Amino acid sequence: MRDDLIYLSPPDVGELERAMLLEAFDSGWIAPLGPHVDRFEKAMAEHLAIPQAAALSSGTAALHLALHLLGVAAGDRVFVSDLTFVASANAVRYLGAIPVFIDSEAQSWNMDPEQLGRALEDANRANRLPKVVMIVDIFGQCGDFDALRAQCKRFSIPILEDAAEALGADYRGGHATPQPAGTLGDIGVFSFNGNKIITTSGGGMLVADDERLVERARWLAAQAREPVSGYEHRTLGFNYRLSNLLAGVGLAQLQQLDLRVQSRRHTNARYRQALTDLPGLSFQPEAPWGRSTSWLSCIQIDRDEFGCTPQKIVERLESQKIQCRPVWKPMHLQPLYAECERYGGELCERLSANGLCLPSGSTLTDSDRARVIDALRACHRP
Ligand SMILES: *Cc1c(COP(=O)(O)O)cnc(C)c1O
Repeated sequence: MRDDLIYLSPPDVGELERAMLLEAFDSGWIAPLGPHVDRFEKAMAEHLAIPQAAALSSGTAALHLALHLLGVAAGDRVFVSDLTFVASANAVRYLGAIPVFIDSEAQSWNMDPEQLGRALEDANRANRLPKVVMIVDIFGQCGDFDALRAQCKRFSIPILEDAAEALGADYRGGHATPQPAGTLGDIGVFSFNGNKIITTSGGGMLVADDERLVERARWLAAQAREPVSGYEHRTLGFNYRLSNLLAGVGLAQLQQLDLRVQSRRHTNARYRQALTDLPGLSFQPEAPWGRSTSWLSCIQIDRDEFGCTPQKIVERLESQKIQCRPVWKPMHLQPLYAECERYGGELCERLSANGLCLPSGSTLTDSDRARVIDALRACHRP
């Protein structure tokens, strides 16, 4: 990597990861099964205080498998957060199911419980309730799960929590103790892609309170071989298990998760403190119901007040070797999903059109942060 370029969210790995990777290599288990996969799953389950977890080859694979486990099939409807990365909606399509997109609320930018309620009522009246509601915790922060769960409960619809970006976050809501992101629905999914808060270079995890679901996920992810002699198959399986080598990297990363969260929250606090006086610049709010990891620090730009468009800011920062990215285009604006039904969509359109993600990696130094801050300040009415 060029060391003068400030990346958006680069991997943060070092000696411990190297040692664990080599330990896995030397163990001879160069396969998607082995002691490091078992240990990584145990460590994740312990971290989340749940009985079991299944290590998989990617977050996308985990979402696909989770929907399959929840019984989603061709022609079924699945409600999905409109403001998300395309992988969430793609997993629905893999099964031939039909996504319906639900707008964000302003407090956390996650799925709006009121729009969800409206969508469920309409679907109930038309006798076409969704098979699953997929709620995405975006940019390291949980949605308002008490309110979202209450809506789903009215119609007994299971929740798939796409917590790909939110490992380390938690939700308190009306509960005495915080509940970790990923454990808030019936099944939760994490990603260990290179840009996430911890990485295995590529990988994912599926978690659930129901141990049988997790065991079935492991079995399906290893081609669903029948427990009889010979290779007999009655069920369609997948090749979705995580490599034992990569689980070694994951074990090392997980030990440092709390430090990674601290670092990203520190970056967010620093940006806020240094930029709050600029008119027309505001941050993704941290909702009162939980604690964000600040996986990405995201801002909103009011172009008239700030005196510069988000597009122009990206160009100016790029010219100074600072990676800065727009907030994703909502799913309902994607050519791939243009014909899909949606509820609302105006808020996430605005969040996207005015939104930017700032460099947020846990490898950022004070001088990197200062460079980002100076570059942004220089964009204000230049
Ligand atoms: C990264 C991401 C995924 C996909 O995870 P991969 O491991 O890259 O397949 C899914 N959903 C969201 C919200 C993500 O950010």
